[in-house]
Amino acid sequence: MNPPALRESRSVCPYCGTGCGVLIEHDGERILGVRGDPEHPANFGQLCSKGMTLAQTVHGSGRATVPLQRVAEETWQQASWEQSMGQIATRWAEIYRDRGPQALAFYVSGQLPTEDYYVVNKLAKGFLGTNHIDTNSRLCMASAVTGYKRSLGMDSVPCSYEDLERTDCLFIVGANVAYAHPIIFRRIEAVKAQRPELRIIVVDPRRTATASIADLFLPILPGTDVALFHGILHLLIWNDRLDTDFIQQHTEGWQELKQRVQEYTPQRVAELCQIAEADLQRAAEFFATSPAVLSLWCQGLNQSAHGTDNNVALINLHLATGQIGRPGAGPFSLTGQPNAMGGRETGGMPALLPGHREIANGEDRAAIAELWGVETLHPEPGYTAVPMFQALERGDLAAIWITCTNPVLSLPDRQQVERALRTAEQVVLQESYLDGETMPFAHWLLPAASWGEREALVTNSERRISHLQAAVPPPGSARPDWQIFCDFAHALALALDRLSVPLPDRKDDSWQQRALRMFSFRDTASIFAEYRRCTIGRDLDIGGLEIAILDRQGPQQWPFPVGAKSGQVRLYANGIFPTPSGRARFHAPVHLGVAEEIDARYPLRLTTGRLRDQWHSMARSGRAASLFASAEEALLAIHPQDARQYGLQEGQLVRVESRRGAALYRLQCDDSLQRGLLFVPMHFGSRYSPAALCNSVTQAAIDPYSGEPEFKHTAVRISAA
Ligand code: SF4
Repeated sequence: MNPPALRESRSVCPYCGTGCGVLIEHDGERILGVRGDPEHPANFGQLCSKGMTLAQTVHGSGRATVPLQRVAEETWQQASWEQSMGQIATRWAEIYRDRGPQALAFYVSGQLPTEDYYVVNKLAKGFLGTNHIDTNSRLCMASAVTGYKRSLGMDSVPCSYEDLERTDCLFIVGANVAYAHPIIFRRIEAVKAQRPELRIIVVDPRRTATASIADLFLPILPGTDVALFHGILHLLIWNDRLDTDFIQQHTEGWQELKQRVQEYTPQRVAELCQIAEADLQRAAEFFATSPAVLSLWCQGLNQSAHGTDNNVALINLHLATGQIGRPGAGPFSLTGQPNAMGGRETGGMPALLPGHREIANGEDRAAIAELWGVETLHPEPGYTAVPMFQALERGDLAAIWITCTNPVLSLPDRQQVERALRTAEQVVLQESYLDGETMPFAHWLLPAASWGEREALVTNSERRISHLQAAVPPPGSARPDWQIFCDFAHALALALDRLSVPLPDRKDDSWQQRALRMFSFRDTASIFAEYRRCTIGRDLDIGGLEIAILDRQGPQQWPFPVGAKSGQVRLYANGIFPTPSGRARFHAPVHLGVAEEIDARYPLRLTTGRLRDQWHSMARSGRAASLFASAEEALLAIHPQDARQYGLQEGQLVRVESRRGAALYRLQCDDSLQRGLLFVPMHFGSRYSPAALCNSVTQAAIDPYSGEPEFKHTAVRISAA
């Protein structure tokens, strides 16, 4: 018999928000290899170490293949889909009957494709009537969302990757692009090699691999971003380097900001940030004299108790100098996860509805209620991630459905998250892998199809929507996430009718009739068709985009309204912003520092972040042996002089301790850190380094606008273990 023919399916890498195109080589049963898609405009055929090893991460043991019910501590029993859906639905229907929908919550993931996000939001907000649905994007992008909305009126990234080639000055702040978005970094390296006059400023408390390419490196003290941006603006004003026409014609709030930044003199800012005043002057000079300035940022700005302030203060610089809406210019937030942006588009956060609409806005609620065929939607935003798990511990939430994420490893203050999950009446975990730290707390495990095993749609950092083809079938009885949500809606409807729970309105005769009307999706295309209707007339209008167009013309950027021939490369070129006045808004935050200052008992600053070759909690990347070559275990990095001061040595086991808990690490001396700063990678869970769980130590302080936690600063102490 001839071996099955080799085929290629078009897809996108499921790791970072760069969204590199991938061609999956397979025989229809197994994925045999991957290569970069030369036609995808995000990567033109290149892949980083993580993308190149994707084929090793799909098959083999450790995959979730059948529904499992935990019947005793560490004892799981197989169940059919029918049994599991029936039993879970009965419990959720009882909770709904006894305590109402506000006792039910969903916690999902920026790795879910767009169609999953749309369906689970429709299930929570439209069918059940709970807005308690948040996503792990809360941990990475939420402050950029609130920053864009407050400054520009909408959560819309105005730039494109091609701006990397067209800029004169790159202002990279709080982003280790070389590790977190390696293909974007290669693109930057190529531009710098071709045009050495390109100026690159890197701002980071650590001298990261990204800083190696910088013309100017500013190692600011953690938590001083607002002071830095105000200091640069102060100098731009002082040196008469503003775009006064742009300020007058296209912005509002300038006078208040101008007054605010008077306090941020170069001397004061240099002291606050602990950088040389001359370097601050040079940064302002670069900003002022470059025809086009492009800012790139990521978690360094966002993961802060003042993340929104950090974002608006950076965007202020672009508005004050008219550096937006032009080739090579603009504030470009890099998306952490592969579909964090797609999730927000579909309303995948507790304050949002599909099409960049707001729960708190009556007109927005009415528009989506009509589209979904329900009388009303609950008017109050639900819990964001950290408060959601606090509500679960308090008993205000009874059940939680966790999909494609590992909160026990990834949320701050791990001890609190574990207490919350132990308190919950029911924890449903919908996952592709079996070995996550959250699994021991789940009552049910539902197997989800993974990358390459299902069709999908995702949006990358530059608003580009790609269509991912299925290459191979999912293992066992695993199903696409959207299908599990639809199946659950039907099972829940049956249970609610059986318990005679009344519908909240008269639009249907029964829950089952409602579920049939709302959740009869057949495939990705049918979900996309409904979702597209939610976008018409909005800033992200994709009314003219069909999957056939994506297949024919390749990935497209939004907006793509009816009649468009292609997506839009750049936003706000006309200087009109989606605010009530049409003007962008300056904001004037004050520098507030970090949430938990160091003191005599906890004298060191701990920051967490990514490694180049691992991803999140390593469910996928931990299955590729070669990805351990650059870092076999989690190490705690410390400046060599600090190690000496504490009598510690390279390789020694040390205990790092905060007010909440402790973790054990082997010590690594690293002079790329400033004195007093420690760094640990976020990835390694109990499977790899049993005691090195960084979120045993971190704090649950969150930004008041975005709800994003302050992972980038915790006061700690260290000692020999
Ligand atoms: Fe995947 Fe990001 Fe690497 Fe591209 S840069 S191959 S999207 S991990």
